This record gives sequence, structure tokens and C-alpha cells, in this order.
Amino acid sequence: MNTNQLSERLAMVASFVPQHTVLADIGSDHAYLPCYLMNKGIISKAIAGEVVKGPYEQAKRNVEANGFTNMIDVRLANGLQAIQPTDEVETVTIAGMGGTLITSILEAGKDLLSNVTRIIAQPNIHAIAIREWAVANNFYLVDEEILQEDGKIYEVLVLERGTASYTPTELLVGPILKEKASAVFHAKWEREMAEWMRVLAALDQAEQTEEIQQKKAVIEQQYELIRKVLTT
Ligand code: SAM
Repeated sequence: MNTNQLSERLAMVASFVPQHTVLADIGSDHAYLPCYLMNKGIISKAIAGEVVKGPYEQAKRNVEANGFTNMIDVRLANGLQAIQPTDEVETVTIAGMGGTLITSILEAGKDLLSNVTRIIAQPNIHAIAIREWAVANNFYLVDEEILQEDGKIYEVLVLERGTASYTPTELLVGPILKEKASAVFHAKWEREMAEWMRVLAALDQAEQTEEIQQKKAVIEQQYELIRKVLTT
């Protein structure tokens, strides 16, 4: 991966960035995503936010090497604090982290999202947290994708402002991913179900306390939800 050639995962995130938008890429690491979008002429201004010094310095070096220092501002900052109101950021990307961390970044900085019309989130796990955050904060899902790369399965969630309500199943699997029902979607949930079966078998071996029985009931309920999704 480099600033001209993204991983399939980041290329999927990039594909949802609108033309001519002002972008903030939070957790930018090498700044591959904003540099790629700048190279392609898709964006003309970006902020690359990174909280850890090493990746921040690497991002700065890559931006300089590409001659983009006037267009991509690399900032050492925690989450959305990389954004100033005067930046007029319209699109936020947050990729390559767990859904819970992405959600906590969005929640902690939601006052800084006032100009933002689109959030593209790529959680490695626990996408449900982002869907729940979206519903609670007047965003809804305009698109979702799922892909497999190097044996790992990734989801990409595209949020815009608006209200929507989703069923518990839709929050878990993604309302649009459920409709698309791709082979990768099936593979993801078959993997999860196999893992739940392993956990249930292990719990069966344990002393059947109330806590263990509650855990089993939760897993069995989720298993049944997903079984229905995959068979209808
Ligand atoms: N976004 C890139 C990608 O998808 O390839 C980098 C992903 S990397 C696994 C996650 C990056 O997010 C790390 O560089 C980490 O330091 C950064 N990060 C984690 N928490 C952050 C926060 N609260 N604010 C800014 N950056 C954060």
C-alpha cells in the first residue's frame, strides 16, 4: 500500500468520498487515504488527524513527499479535535479501528461535526455500535459495503444526516448489507455463528450458574436472528 495504491479496504472507503469535498481523515496513520484522494484530484483540501506521534510524523513525511503540504494539514490531535470550525469539513473518514473506538471518537467530538454531511466509517469489528450511534445522533445509513481482504472481513458504513429506525437485526448486520446479501456477508455471519457454537459448547461445560445461562440465552438469541437472516 502507498499513496497511489491503496489496500482494497481503504479503496472502498475512498470510493465513498464525494468529489471536491473538504475531508478530515481521523486516525490517518500514513495519510495514505488523503494523499491518494489528492493524487486522483478527488479532493483539494484535507485534514489528517493522528493522536500518536510516530504515525503523525510518518503522515507528515508522506504529505511532504507528495508535495501536498499546502493542501493536507497533518495535525497531532485526539479524534475530532483535529477539526476547527473554520476548516468547514464536510466529510469525515475513520477507518481501521474497532467500532467501539470509532463510536467514542464520534461521540466525544460530535459538537465539531456541525458542517459535516457525510461520515464514512470502516470498523474492523462491532459495526453495530456505529449504527446505534448514528440513530441516536440523527444520521442514517445511505450505503454499506462488506469486503474480504487477506482473509479478513471489513464493513464500510456511509452515514448522512437524517433520521431512520432499524430493527435489532438490521442494527447488528446492517440494513443495506442485509439487502445486498453478498457472498462475503454470508461468509462473515457463518463465521460468527461457528464461533458462537464454539462458545456455547464451552459454556455447556461450565457450572450452569445464572450468569452462564444468561450468556447462553443471549448467544442463542443472536444465533437465531442470524440463522433467519441467512435462510430468508
Ligand atoms: N486509518 C488508517 C487505515 O485505515 O489504514 C490507519 C488505521 S490504524 C490501525 C489506526 C490509527 O488510528 C492509528 O494510527 C492510531 O494511532 C490512530 N488513532 C487511534 N485512536 C485515535 C484517536 N482517538 N484520534 C486520532 N487517531 C487515533
